Amino acid sequence: MGIVLLGPPGSGKGTQGRLLAERLGVRHLSTGVLLRDEASSGTDLGRKIAPYLDRGELAPDDLTMAVVEPAVAAARAEGGYVLDGFPRTLDQASHLPEDDIAVHLDLPDDVARVRLAERDEGRSDDDDPTVIDHRLRVYHERTAPLLELYGSRGRLITVDADQPPEAVAGAIAAALEARS
Ligand code: AMP
Repeated sequence: MGIVLLGPPGSGKGTQGRLLAERLGVRHLSTGVLLRDEASSGTDLGRKIAPYLDRGELAPDDLTMAVVEPAVAAARAEGGYVLDGFPRTLDQASHLPEDDIAVHLDLPDDVARVRLAERDEGRSDDDDPTVIDHRLRVYHERTAPLLELYGSRGRLITVDADQPPEAVAGAIAAALEARS
């Protein structure tokens, strides 16, 4: 069972990823968390990654894969994953099986901006409106093309993420149910 969550920053990937993984009995992997942990651990790799996180840029694919690939492989060996924050580029998607299902958390940018500005998780990349705007731009340029990729494979579910978390979780569950 492989599910990837696609959606702009602030669309609820973390919350929905946790809920969905629990429901399905698989691992929830947040690449933002994995990369932030690596960056704060002070390893060589972490030191290379940190500046990208601060600027709201995607970390380069090779550095990202070095962190993410072992975690994804371990989750796969244990029966599956819900990936939150990966893939974010077409190249990253090529590292995943073609039958993974993408769940698109659809949210207008203006709602995402408000949510990120109000979020209080101690993340420096949420504090600066310029960095928030940049992350949204990066999402549209680099990650949104994945919607077309998964759609063309018939493996895309889109839900309205501008609802309370329980309603979004219900919509995801219903859409997955309808496919099975
Ligand atoms: P997130 O917690 O998903 O919002 O991710 C926070 C930051 O981590 C992003 O702004 C990127 O700098 C970095 N990041 C997370 N996932 C990826 C990824 N798949 N590829 C490259 N950078 C990523």
